[in-house]
Amino acid sequence: MGTTTRKTRDDFSPKVKQVLAERVNFHCAVCDAPTLGPKTGTNDKRFSVGKAAHIKAAAPGGPRYDAGQTAAERSAIENGIWACATCADLIDRDPDAYDVDSLLRIKADAEWQASTRAGRPPGSDLPALRAPTAINRAIAVFCRQEAARQERLDPRFKVSVRMAESGPSYEFSAREPVDAKLVICSQGRRRETDALRDFMHYGGDLVLEGLEIRMEGSPIFPSGGVATKRLEVTSHPRSIIMTVALDAGASMPLYVEFPGQATHGSRGFRFTGSTLGSMLTLSMTGDFSVRSPDFKLNIDLKSWERKPVRQLPHFAKLRQILQLLDRPVPVQVQCAHEGIESDFGSGVLDGREQFRLLHAFMAEIEDLRKLDTFFDLDLVMPADLGDVFRDRGDIAQLIGLIDCGKADDPTVEVSLVPEEPFAPLHELISSQKPGAIRLSQELAMRIFDRAYGPFEVELICPGAVFTPVGPANIEVGVPIRLMLRPAEGNRWSARVSGRP
Ligand SMILES: [Zn+2]
Repeated sequence: MGTTTRKTRDDFSPKVKQVLAERVNFHCAVCDAPTLGPKTGTNDKRFSVGKAAHIKAAAPGGPRYDAGQTAAERSAIENGIWACATCADLIDRDPDAYDVDSLLRIKADAEWQASTRAGRPPGSDLPALRAPTAINRAIAVFCRQEAARQERLDPRFKVSVRMAESGPSYEFSAREPVDAKLVICSQGRRRETDALRDFMHYGGDLVLEGLEIRMEGSPIFPSGGVATKRLEVTSHPRSIIMTVALDAGASMPLYVEFPGQATHGSRGFRFTGSTLGSMLTLSMTGDFSVRSPDFKLNIDLKSWERKPVRQLPHFAKLRQILQLLDRPVPVQVQCAHEGIESDFGSGVLDGREQFRLLHAFMAEIEDLRKLDTFFDLDLVMPADLGDVFRDRGDIAQLIGLIDCGKADDPTVEVSLVPEEPFAPLHELISSQKPGAIRLSQELAMRIFDRAYGPFEVELICPGAVFTPVGPANIEVGVPIRLMLRPAEGNRWSARVSGRP
C-alpha cells in the first residue's frame, strides 16, 4: 500500500544466535540439556532444539519488555539467552517464570560452566571448584538445572530445588489444578489411620511419619525406590470471623466474635479462633449434614499472672461469659467471610462441669477486687494463679462487712458495756425509735502471704432500731447484747476511717 511498516519484533540476527549458542556449547542455559545433534536418517544434517530467547522482550506486551531499550539494544547479544525449546517457551511466554536479574544470572552461570568444561572430559571440571564462590556457584547451577529438568518432565509444576544439609530438597507447586493420588499405607497403625481419616473429613494440618507413602499422577513424584519418610499436608485454611451468640434464645443474647482459621474436608468443617487477647478460644467441628456443631470453649488466664487485681484484662467480659455458662445455654453460630454471613448451626453449650473451678476462681477474684478497692491494697495477682485459692486467708468476714449494706439479713449483733449516763440508750431500747449508730472495728488481713492493716473500719447506720438479746437489764458496767436493725429507709454502710 505504499506505507512502510516498522518491524514490530526486534529479533536476533543469525550471527547473534550462533554466538549465543556457542558461548554455552549449545547447551540450554537453564536446564543444561544439549540442544544440538545429528538429524536422524541423514549424514549431513543437524537437528536443533535450541532457541535464542529474549531477556527483555522483543516486542511490546512481551515478558519483561523495556520501552527504554533501542531496537539495537533489544536485538543485541547482551539481551539474549540460549535455551532449549521447553525452557525458551517458559522464558518467552510466562512473564512470572523469570525476571531480568535471574535470567542474567542464569546466563552468566551457564557461560561460566561452559568455560570450566571446555577442553576437559566430563567431571574433570571439579578441580576448578576449589574457591568457595565457585563451589557455591556450582551448587546454584546444579539446583537451577535440576529444577528446570524437573519442570521439563512435568510443566504443570513449578519446581524449586535448594541444597539442604541432607541433600537436595525439592519443592513442587502446581501451576494449575493437577490430578494426583496420594497412596498411604497405614495398615496396622490405628492412630495414623484415624488422623488421616479425620483430615479427609474436616481438613486441617496433618503430619505423618514413618509410613509408606507414594504419590501418583506425575513423573516428577518420587517413585518406587524413594521412601517418603515424612508427609505434611495442609488443607487451605481460611481466615473467618465466627460470631457466637450465647444464650441465643434470650432477648439479649451475648455476642462474642472469634477471628480464626477454618478448614473443611469431605464431611464438614473445623474452626479455631480466639478473642479477648487469646484468653478465650473457640474450637468447633461440624458436619455439613448436621446443624449442631461440636463446641469447645477454652479459657486461659495466663495473662493475669502478676497483674494488679484491679486491672485484669477482660475481667468484666469473662465474668459475664462465665456467669452465663453456669447452666447449659443455647448457642448459635454465624460466620462472616468476605462480607457474606452464613449460619453455622446451633447447639447447647454446657460449661458447668468444665468451668466449675473457674466459677469459684472468678468469685474469689471478685472478692479480692472488692477488698482491694475498699482498703486500697494495690493487690497483685500471684505468679501461680493456683495460689489464689491457697493464700487468700479468710476474707469472707471482711467481704460481709464491705457488703453489709446489701446483706439479706441486715441485723448486726453487738455486745457493749453501758457507761454512765446510759439514759439515751435506755430510751432508744424502750421506745424502739431509730437512732444513729457508728460501730468501729480494727481489722488486719493476710492476702497472698502478705499482711495488710490494721485498718479502722466504721460501720454506720443513720437510723437503727435497738433490740436487746435476752433479758433487758441495763446496768452500768454489765455487758449487754443488742441486735441492731436498720429502720425503714436506712441501711448500713462501711468505710475505712483511718490507716495507722
Ligand atoms: Zn532447557
